[in-house]
Amino acid sequence: MNVPLLDLHPQTAALRDEILRAVTEVLDSTAYILGPKVTRLEEEVAAYSGAGFGIGVSSGTDALLMALMALEIGPGDRVLTTPYSFFATVGAILRVGALPVFADIQAETFNIDPDKMAELLADDAKKGKSIKAIIPVHLFGQCADMGKIVALAEQYGIPVIEDAAQAIGSEYPMSEKDGSVRWRRAGSMGLAGCFSFFPSKNLGCLGDGGMVISSDKAFADNLRCYRNHGAQPKYYHAKIGGNFRLDPLQAAVLSVKLPHLEQWHKQRQENSRIYRELFVQAGLTDNPVILPKAVYANSPDAAAHHHHIYNQFVIRAPRREELRNYLHKQGVGCEVYYPVCLHKQDCMKKYGTIELSLPIAEQLAQDSLALPIFPELGREQLARVVEVIAEFYRS
Ligand SMILES: *Cc1c(COP(=O)(O)O)cnc(C)c1O
Repeated sequence: MNVPLLDLHPQTAALRDEILRAVTEVLDSTAYILGPKVTRLEEEVAAYSGAGFGIGVSSGTDALLMALMALEIGPGDRVLTTPYSFFATVGAILRVGALPVFADIQAETFNIDPDKMAELLADDAKKGKSIKAIIPVHLFGQCADMGKIVALAEQYGIPVIEDAAQAIGSEYPMSEKDGSVRWRRAGSMGLAGCFSFFPSKNLGCLGDGGMVISSDKAFADNLRCYRNHGAQPKYYHAKIGGNFRLDPLQAAVLSVKLPHLEQWHKQRQENSRIYRELFVQAGLTDNPVILPKAVYANSPDAAAHHHHIYNQFVIRAPRREELRNYLHKQGVGCEVYYPVCLHKQDCMKKYGTIELSLPIAEQLAQDSLALPIFPELGREQLARVVEVIAEFYRS
């Protein structure tokens, strides 16, 4: 039995007629740039995420880039972020001419460590405050520790741009001033949140797409302006933006898919539960395999909230490269997210970050492995994945 890492066929087949109808509507409308389909999706995603405004953009990468542009971050500025993410996170920082400052991650979550951030921010405050923004990433579908991150941001007066590309709908148990817990959705806790609709994300379109959400009206207006060459009004340019527009074709498809997102999250969560059961039965947990930790699962009312949406189910495994090859040979899809930390990428040589030592991120880049978790997988397929892993460690 082959088990692919991701198979979009079942999702596409289930929604085929509805998607074709939505695409046909756009085709026949001849409204091919922005327009009502994009506006509708912006309202739907903002409402879903608990934010005031949505600005549909061309990709998750452009969402990040545009947010930094709208903050007027550039040469001489630095942005505090994680060394463990998809390249777009740091790429956006470098493309506006700023430099990244990397705080190491927490081994349990793969997310940026607020204690390390606190040290770097204190140090930066002493040296004259060059850190102008913070970009935490909610990796694999679990939110970074936003309570602490937002508190630090407030203390130093720095905006937070959430890279929520992998985490639309993921929730974080935010402690309120009165001691109660309010679950907040990814992207709604900072000044702005960035989503990607790349096909492998939990909500994916038929190509590239993204969105920035924000509850700050002035900032949202500013973003909308940057999305369209900084024009305000048309043909008058006080700012230099870009063409970062989301296609209405993609927006129309996403509006068909969004009502199903809750169900897909639940199926991914159920697959995670089954994996955990199977790994325990196979005697593989703790040693040699470390399963992903859902760190907010014991927070008040967690069962009713998406404390993790499992965009990826990432285990830590010794002899990772050999295991990966073995799984592939047995017809089981898997992937390494990510084999090289951001500070160690070749293009970072001229920025002097290669010499940095961020031991936790570097360790996890050596032993992390993503297993198939997409919604339509059945127990039998999950059992096959665990069986092949058990075979590998027995041999
Ligand atoms: C996918 C992703 C992006 C980029 O999104 P695109 O839509 O592919 O441009 C940015 N950050 C993270 C963490 C991602 O996973």
